[in-house]
Amino acid sequence: MSIKQNLNTIKQSLPEHVTLVAVSKTKPVSDLIEAYNAGQRIFGENKIQEMVDKYQEMPKDIKWHMIGHVQRNKVKYMAEFVDLIHGVDSLKLLKEINKQAKKHDRVINCLLQIKIAEEDSKFGMSASDAKSLLQSEAFKDFNNVTISGVMGMATFTDNETLIKEEFSRLKTTFEDLKDIKTSNCNLQTISMGMSGDYPLAIECGSTMIRVGSSIFGERNYNN
Ligand SMILES: *Cc1c(COP(=O)(O)O)cnc(C)c1O
Repeated sequence: MSIKQNLNTIKQSLPEHVTLVAVSKTKPVSDLIEAYNAGQRIFGENKIQEMVDKYQEMPKDIKWHMIGHVQRNKVKYMAEFVDLIHGVDSLKLLKEINKQAKKHDRVINCLLQIKIAEEDSKFGMSASDAKSLLQSEAFKDFNNVTISGVMGMATFTDNETLIKEEFSRLKTTFEDLKDIKTSNCNLQTISMGMSGDYPLAIECGSTMIRVGSSIFGERNYNN
């Protein structure tokens, strides 16, 4: 199956309220162009340098999403163009994003990454830390960021019951936080679901899925 066919198959299965992020990490620009020519405009990358390189080569009407863990010292490289940062997990990081966005006279949309998996390896904040962040005095002054939702990653497992529990936890967290409405906080998006689990994520309330291998094929990290 071609990238175009994969994309079309997935898009046809999605409810209208679900946004598809095509996760193109490790893939060559020629693959991204194929997806672009099939109509895809939202791409997700997990390394800032790789996203910057691709941004420079690709058409400018693409929305670039940073879906990986963000190091504070690298925010400056993407501040000019990034459309949505999924993995915000601390006030310190948000402060840096705000600072860099201001330099470019932009407002950068961000999602708070919530730890929903039992695995220790996954990044993210607890639901209560997220709430404290959104209610903090410091956050009120961040005029160059908007928190537009939450993001989460389920445990890497075949156990559907566990995955469902974790996705439901993110949905509950979203429902709890979305009452906090300020000039820089308006939660609309629940980013959850990847190639292996996006139908389940949608069942559990996802509004944004991040799909890589089901579109572009398996990744090869050795080349
Ligand atoms: C790689 C990645 C994805 C996509 O994974 P697939 O299983 O290839 O669909 C989604 N989200 C994040 C955060 C990723 O790093």
